[in-house]
Amino acid sequence: MNHFRFFIPTELFYGAGSLEKLATEPLPGKRALVVTGGNSIKRLEILERVLSILQSRSVETFLYDRVTPNPVKEIVAEAARLARNENCDFVVGLGGGSPIDAAKAIAMMAANSGDIWDYIQVGSGGKKPFSKPGLPLIAIPTTAGTGTEGNPTAVITNPDTGEKVGMSCAFPVKSFVDPELTLNISPSYTAFQGFDALFHSLEAFISVRATPVSDVWALESMRLIFAHLAAAVNDGMNLEARAAVSRASMMAGMVICISSCTSAHLIEHSLSGIVQTLPHGEGLILISAAFHALGAQQIPDRYALIADALGFTKPGQTIREKARSFLTALEDLKAACGVSERRLSDHGFSEKDIDRIVRNAHLIAGGPFTRDRYEISDESLAEMIRASL
Ligand SMILES: [Zn+2]
Repeated sequence: MNHFRFFIPTELFYGAGSLEKLATEPLPGKRALVVTGGNSIKRLEILERVLSILQSRSVETFLYDRVTPNPVKEIVAEAARLARNENCDFVVGLGGGSPIDAAKAIAMMAANSGDIWDYIQVGSGGKKPFSKPGLPLIAIPTTAGTGTEGNPTAVITNPDTGEKVGMSCAFPVKSFVDPELTLNISPSYTAFQGFDALFHSLEAFISVRATPVSDVWALESMRLIFAHLAAAVNDGMNLEARAAVSRASMMAGMVICISSCTSAHLIEHSLSGIVQTLPHGEGLILISAAFHALGAQQIPDRYALIADALGFTKPGQTIREKARSFLTALEDLKAACGVSERRLSDHGFSEKDIDRIVRNAHLIAGGPFTRDRYEISDESLAEMIRASL
């Protein structure tokens, strides 16, 4: 019997058109810093809609629109200064994982002194606890993948050291998950983000931290991705498919805070900390064949459970055959989404980077990996990277 804690205090509003709830739900203040990444949000007039809804509620808005993919610590400092100077009493994170993660860190640093890196608990971080709660945060995701709207984690990059690390900030007080906002995402990004959600649930299921509650949600969110992601990739305007992927992403985001990701995410953060133009979801896809082939060998029972639950097995198969059926289904989904051909070498990685990738993954982990059910030696990690080059 395993023990677990369940604590997800975010009030989530899910469904097509749910952004309009922002016009009627109680808000945590009257002065808001709106944090976003910019271009696509502006082109699609989503930013304008959010600002006009807030202004119709007599909320004074201050805009920070310079968040880049893989947000760096300098952005957090600059936007937190703006929030303090303007006496903001809450923060709105609008966009994909990067703006919302940045908004989480900005909300904490608007209330705490020093640099965000003082509060990073691993690697070269200062390992200090936050002394004050952050400003309340409202999350409005416009992509479906990170699930950051349902957990307290923010991923921040230190470009000086190549570290890209997850830190615990605060849960959003409210999140508005409106699949209509994801309709215009390109096919490749739809696939990268959808696979990120899939891997959150898959890793949470095979992690040592898996619980009976996370298992149920993980299986349901994986089922949704396998059933609908290819349709969302191949027809971006298919709202039914978009809605299913958004729901899967939201659930997977909560799954990783009841359970956890495994070392696959640490290895990916090592990769995209080194090559910062590598999208997180694509990095996960690139190492997934090698990572999960080892997993299916080491813990075939967990992979077989997924294969059974998702209908990938045939009568009479052994546990190992069922585990391999899952790997086949994963490769089929990659092919259906057009993401099975690329390699790490397409992003400039080569044999000479392997040592650095391994070292960086342990730096980000703060030492040996602790979330896998089996030991991954540095040699087998190096072999995994080599197989993905
Ligand atoms: Zn992820």
